Amino acid sequence: MSTPVLLENHVAGQWVAGNGERTALTDPVTGDTLAYVSSAGLDLDAAFAFARERAGPALRALSYGERARRLAQIVTTLQANRDDYYAIATANSGTVASDSALDIDGAIYTLSTYAKLGATLGDAHTLLDGAAVPLAKDGSFAVRHVLRPTPGVALFINAFNFPAWGLWEKAAGALLAGVPVIVKPATSTAWLAQRMVADVVAAGVLPPGSLSVICGSAAGLLERVGPFDVVSFTGSADTAAALRTHPAFTERSARINVEADSLNSALLLPDAAPGTAAFEQFVREVAREMTVKSGQKCTAIRRALVPGEHFDAVAAAIAERLAGTTVGNPRNETVKTGSLVSVAQKRAVLDGIAHLRAEAETLYDGNRAAAFVDAGPDSACVAPVLLGLRDGAAGQRVHDTEVFGPVATLIGYRNADEAVALARRAQGSLVVSLFSNDALAMREPALALASTHGRVHAVDPSVAKTQTGHGNVMPQALHGGPGRAGGGEELGGLRALRFYHVRAAIQGPAALVEALTQDAVAWAG
Ligand code: NAP
Repeated sequence: MSTPVLLENHVAGQWVAGNGERTALTDPVTGDTLAYVSSAGLDLDAAFAFARERAGPALRALSYGERARRLAQIVTTLQANRDDYYAIATANSGTVASDSALDIDGAIYTLSTYAKLGATLGDAHTLLDGAAVPLAKDGSFAVRHVLRPTPGVALFINAFNFPAWGLWEKAAGALLAGVPVIVKPATSTAWLAQRMVADVVAAGVLPPGSLSVICGSAAGLLERVGPFDVVSFTGSADTAAALRTHPAFTERSARINVEADSLNSALLLPDAAPGTAAFEQFVREVAREMTVKSGQKCTAIRRALVPGEHFDAVAAAIAERLAGTTVGNPRNETVKTGSLVSVAQKRAVLDGIAHLRAEAETLYDGNRAAAFVDAGPDSACVAPVLLGLRDGAAGQRVHDTEVFGPVATLIGYRNADEAVALARRAQGSLVVSLFSNDALAMREPALALASTHGRVHAVDPSVAKTQTGHGNVMPQALHGGPGRAGGGEELGGLRALRFYHVRAAIQGPAALVEALTQDAVAWAG
């Protein structure tokens, strides 16, 4: 193993080492120290000013189409370094290759999708929102709404579970909009994001200062956020609640987008009885969502809602699948599920399981006979745990406690209305999935649940091979959710541009309003 180095920060177009207390990044399986980070001593005033005053204008001098071409160049740069990214993910996140792919290739796919979408905006510098509307009877005076890129910076404060995708799914929209990015990755897995930024900076794809990375403490960042900056936070509901009260938002009215935690559910409709194709699809999806990335996905299924009469059959079928999972060191090719991201997370997950067990029975616990492959008891490995609550309405904790690991609760419901009510007990979620043998039977619950979920994912046997997966966030579809999920919106194709723009109504003589269409393109968001 090479000697751990101090990862530098990139601010104001320069690489700078923090000069204070360092935090170690560790391998969650071996416990080895991999690198150090520190954001102490950085000139944050200069970092924000350089991004706002130098990078922003340079980015916005380019058209949407030109910025889309830069996104395509970022894709090329990242693809050239993919092997290194996989090695970093294995060491720092403890993920098997297929889980690392979700993060790394998911990031690259999202960027390439935005490169294509951005190309459709051509040489424009302004987005038009709707048609011109006359405000005078003779049509001499009219109004048109335009979107213009905000003249500030986009600050991202990200979660530990997607160091690559979490950066690029946000940066794709910001950079396409012409807004420079400052990213603070979660400390424990900051290495991958830092390395990707280093590669893109070295490739000279973007104007200097367009992409900054600060590794370590977030101290001082929000104090620099001004009225035209935007902040995108991904992380726990507790941290989000603390951030929202900051004067950056309460006094300076900077906008904040929050992607927080979520008690997502999967709903087996009554027709999907044991032996039917939809039943099998449901079982496969729940087991997969529990084990992919060791359940460390904000979109993972936490609650599997099933008709009471199918409870035992579902429990047995999911348990059988989970029993086939091998957990351990991601370097061993027989391992299907790697470790959690840190020993601290393992403790939090084990505490969370104990908390849920106060009201839920244990239907399957892979840790009882745990023999982690090439990983000791001190590693951050946790095997899947399926809990159960037959009378879903009687539960409280299972509906409001997110255990961020390979854990889900099977929950019984009596009828369709109760199923919808139970899904809503989570107070707003990122995603709910529906499983039925009849596509049209899902219409009513889909529309009912759309008011409390950011995404409704419906599956029947006709899409067995084509459906994109409950937990996979597709750049074409909205990501975010109301209420407990944070109330944020990301992605959704060109809808993502909204957050990085200011919408204004320009009203005036009809000739001026007509002239707004020059150098502009309709925004279909
Ligand atoms: P977290 O503890 O809330 O941390 C998230 C980020 O906030 C990290 O970068 C963290 O920095 C930073 N942070 C912590 N305290 C802060 C403060 N007082 N001021 C400014 N920044 C602060 O969340 P996490 O444990 O990394 O992530 C797991 C959670 O994220 C889960 O609940 C999961 O559901 C949620 N999540 C949601 C989505 C989504 O899209 N909705 C996606 C992924 C994850 P440090 O790392 O340096 O502490």
